[in-house]
Amino acid sequence: MTQPTRAPTLAHTPPTRSAIAERLAEIVGERHVLSRPSELLVYNSDGLPGYRRQPRLAVFPGTREETIAVVRLLADEGLPFVPRGAGTGLSGGALADDIVVIGLHRLKKIISLDVENRRATVEPGVVNLRLNKHVAPHSLLYAPDPSSEAACTIGGNVAENAGGPHCLKYGVTLNHVLAMTVVLPSGEVVELGSKVGERDGYDLRGAFIGSEGCFGLALDITVKLMVKPQTVRTLLADFTSVDQAAHVTSAIIASGIVPAALEFMDGPTIRVVEDSIYAAGYPRDAEAILLIELDGLDAGVSADLEAVRRICLDGGARNVKVARDDAERMKLWQGRKKAFGAMGRLAPHLIVQDAVIPRTRLPDILATIRAISEKYGVVVCNVFHAGDGNLHPNIAYSADDPAESERVHKAMTEIMRACIDAGGSITGEHGVGLDKMGYMESIFSESSLNAMCELRAVFDPERRSNPGKVVPVHACKEWHAVPGGRLRVSM
Ligand SMILES: Cc1cc2nc3c(=O)[nH]c(=O)nc-3n(C[C@H](O)[C@H](O)[C@H](O)COP(=O)(O)OP(=O)(O)OC[C@H]3O[C@@H](n4cnc5c(N)ncnc54)[C@H](O)[C@@H]3O)c2cc1C
Repeated sequence: MTQPTRAPTLAHTPPTRSAIAERLAEIVGERHVLSRPSELLVYNSDGLPGYRRQPRLAVFPGTREETIAVVRLLADEGLPFVPRGAGTGLSGGALADDIVVIGLHRLKKIISLDVENRRATVEPGVVNLRLNKHVAPHSLLYAPDPSSEAACTIGGNVAENAGGPHCLKYGVTLNHVLAMTVVLPSGEVVELGSKVGERDGYDLRGAFIGSEGCFGLALDITVKLMVKPQTVRTLLADFTSVDQAAHVTSAIIASGIVPAALEFMDGPTIRVVEDSIYAAGYPRDAEAILLIELDGLDAGVSADLEAVRRICLDGGARNVKVARDDAERMKLWQGRKKAFGAMGRLAPHLIVQDAVIPRTRLPDILATIRAISEKYGVVVCNVFHAGDGNLHPNIAYSADDPAESERVHKAMTEIMRACIDAGGSITGEHGVGLDKMGYMESIFSESSLNAMCELRAVFDPERRSNPGKVVPVHACKEWHAVPGGRLRVSM
């Protein structure tokens, strides 16, 4: 049988490593290339510190031209690379062993803002929240708001098709990106999508969004902006049982009201947030809270607010508090958006899951998660986008304790299985990366996985861009059969 082919690795070419570093430095400047293991430590994981990989080099281009030149040099040398934004990813995406990291944080220009047509074009390293601050004086906003918005980049959002609390009503990154300029791993520069609206032809923009760095590197991104809603109201409903909050979530959606956001936090999450500097004034004795945001025109929002309040109280809420002003609103959101960070108090590592389930299955899945946590003696903190059925069960643990790690991973695997069996999916917004690759064959058929491999081959026939991610190599028929292009490692 033909052995699976491997992308070239820099490990095979130690004597030429510094030669490559020098040539990269000629492009970007000496101080924008790192090669010492100690300097590279920060690039050996992302937001899931349980995964560690050791890159050989990191290069930080400062302009679009430098970025293209870097990719072309690596293409000429047949070397693999991984694009990296802010490294906040939660699937072990922006890391790999023996690879060149192309860090894009220096590409942070907002290239243009077209207020009249509600569009902006940005470089990939622009931080999500900065774009929103930039457009806010024009009463505009960029809707996808991952809870990591203060750090993550638009390039990383595109690569992961990021979501966020407000994606329930407004859709995920895919729904807000019009066009991109992309440098393919070959060094060729292509335009995907259209800045001015629909065009015929295959939707290559759609294919690239969510490609997790495996199709090349986004050099600029044109996004749609929305007009800020006239009114925004935020409610906090608290419950003494998780089950009640889960049923209320379904009841709100069934009522036909589409909140801008409908977020769920369980008791352990509430208490860890309240113990942290992000304390938001959540009731510590509650077993669940729902954070519900309604937006739109004044009259409609007032009517919806009354309806939602009634649904919560009828469903068993102890209290429904409505934020009085923006400061109170922001405080309620801070607790939610910083909840993962607050969990850092519990243990050095955090395993974050991202399964999606049909919303109507929420009550039984939450009961199953509780049963699994008891079986393995682990504490699960649930904080998630309830309106979309996008769960985030999290377990804080120490990866340095093998027995604890094993229990945590067994618990997470059972939770994922339960979500898949409930008709769900393995990722809602964090991507597959390294973390979910082992589940791909549970939810996709062999032919679907093979179609993914073929699509990848259109963008990256040599599989040099973020190799070893998303689709397990053994799942790709043609990767077995055909040598992976020009696997040149000598220089
Ligand atoms: C506290 C916290 C809360 C979070 N909340 C959310 C949330 O609500 N919703 C959500 O969706 N995610 C969330 N995330 C996950 C993460 O922030 C997102 O996946 C984000 O989109 C990653 O952006 P980044 O710039 O950090 O990308 P990185 O982590 O640097 O990279 C992520 C992937 O994108 C690729 N990539 C990066 N830049 C480019 C580029 N220019 N071109 C091509 N590929 C590129 C990388 O190769 C990698 O595969 C959260 C993370 C944290 C730590």
